[in-house]
Amino acid sequence: MDTKNFKASEFACRHCGENKIDDRVLVMAQTIRDALGVPVRVNSGYRCPTHNANVGGVKGSKHTLGKAADLSCSLGSAKMFETVKALKAEGKLPDLDYCIKYRTFIHIDCGGKRKSLWEVRG
Ligand SMILES: [Zn+2]
Repeated sequence: MDTKNFKASEFACRHCGENKIDDRVLVMAQTIRDALGVPVRVNSGYRCPTHNANVGGVKGSKHTLGKAADLSCSLGSAKMFETVKALKAEGKLPDLDYCIKYRTFIHIDCGGKRKSLWEVRG
């Protein structure tokens, strides 16, 4: 499924092109992109197990289930994280189960609820 600003192919495995991305990830990315008002880059979407291991992803990462994406934009990850929090508070990201702020990007996923929805790792 494509959305207004994203093609599903942008979420394919960078290593082999396989793509098991969940449509809900695209819907969340589009909601975030609309709120930011600037282009959003998909750093990583679906990862096959081989690629996930190659990039040092944790085993069983939600990326390997097609339920996660790492996103970045020109406004920086702090602005993105703040925007995602506001959208969630407004009920506009019902599928979001987990969001991590890293120094240069954010991770979003719909891979099931964790102890905490928010985490900061940089
Ligand atoms: Zn691959």
